[in-house]
This record gives sequence, C-alpha cells and structure tokens, in this order.
Amino acid sequence: MQKNLERYQRQLIIKDIEEGGQQKLFKAKVLVCGVGGLGSPVLTYLAAAGIGNIGLCDFDVIAPSNLNRQFLYTPKELGKQKAHIAKAKLEKFNPDVKITAYSDKLNEENAGEIFKNYDIIVDAMDNFPSRYLINSVAYKNSLPLVCGGVCEFEGILTTIVPKENTICFQCIYPFKPSIKLTSKVFGILGAIAGTIGSIQALEVIKLVLGLRCLKNKLLIFNGLENIYRVKDVLKKNDCTICGN
Ligand SMILES: [Zn+2]
Repeated sequence: MQKNLERYQRQLIIKDIEEGGQQKLFKAKVLVCGVGGLGSPVLTYLAAAGIGNIGLCDFDVIAPSNLNRQFLYTPKELGKQKAHIAKAKLEKFNPDVKITAYSDKLNEENAGEIFKNYDIIVDAMDNFPSRYLINSVAYKNSLPLVCGGVCEFEGILTTIVPKENTICFQCIYPFKPSIKLTSKVFGILGAIAGTIGSIQALEVIKLVLGLRCLKNKLLIFNGLENIYRVKDVLKKNDCTICGN
C-alpha cells in the first residue's frame, strides 16, 4: 500500500531517519508482549512512527485499576479483551500500520510460534515468570528484545541482541523470584510507565535504524530525583540462557 509520507514529515527531516530509514520502519515487524502501562505508550509511539507490522499480545481484560496508566482503554471498555480494544484503537490512530492481536497467555509452546513472525520483541510485562519466558524464547530464536520495567517512582530498561552475544535479562536478574512473591501487587504511576515505555519505543526505532542502543547496559530511572543512570552489565558466563 502506498503510504502518505506527509504524516511522517517531521521525522523524515531527521538526519538519521530520512526516507531510507522510514522505509525500514515501514517494513519492520515488532511484537509487544503486554498491553498495559508500558504497552500503551510503546504501541502508540511505534504506530505513530509508522512501524509497518505490529503484533500485540495480552490475555487480560480491562479492569478499573488499569486506568491510571493504560491510556488505550476507557471506562466504557471495562471487562473487554485488552488485545482487541488496543488493536482497534491503534488501527484508527494510524491506518498505515497492520496490527495483529494475540489474546493467548504466552507459554513455552505458543511463544516460539508467535515470535517467529517478528524481527524485534518488546517485553512490556509486569511479572517475572513472563519476563523469564520471553527472554528465553527471544534468545533461543536470536530475536532482539527490549525489556522495560517499572515500580513506584522507578523504572529500568535494557536492550538484548542475541546475534551480538549481549547479556540477557537473566544476567541482570539471575534469581527467579517465586510466583507468590511476584504476584504481590506493587505501585505503578502512569507517568513513570509512560517514561519507560517511550524509551522502549525509541530503542525499537533505533534497532530498526541501526543506531546505538542500550546493549550490555541497564538504564535506571529515578523519577523522584529526576536521575537517569546507565550502568554497564557483564554477561554471566554461567547464565543458563546466554552463557557460553
Ligand atoms: Zn544471560
């Protein structure tokens, strides 16, 4: 489909994008796992940038307590499937973008099948078991993965590129917290999720354009103090996912 480039005019004049970069964005295939507080900004900015093929994956339905941060949803849509509502909103927002919605809960079997249709995976989940699963399947399939996480006034972010033998999520968090521990409800502020989600979208765009990303690095954002720190992370040689 011929796209109207006028929509992208303000990014086309950026030296590192121009028309060649925009064509790469149109051709990119990105899967976002989790369509909540992080997924809302990630998906919105990916669609805005003209990422041509976007997959989104969430098995949950919309609950009242989602609405302080998950801006793809409104009170009228309570109880409805997030994946379907998000797909409809994003298609309306940018008709250039092809959106595929998956409302399955990710597991070892279906994750590999879904992931193989994409070039880049985004972890926008809110629990450790899903993060470990996504990390393992993305690494096994040599797919770049952009991980983000938020809790109260803090956020973290890293970009994993298996083909470049970078660290993985499990190198940063080698301890597998029990399901019981991670199911504890923790505080999330919408603006913090928005900050980290926006940077995740930016990392995806830079991966597509071949620009410098947060590889082997962990970005830590403290929203109370307005401090961004980027620290180097070393690969754990005994890591069961990426270790040599
Ligand atoms: Zn690792």
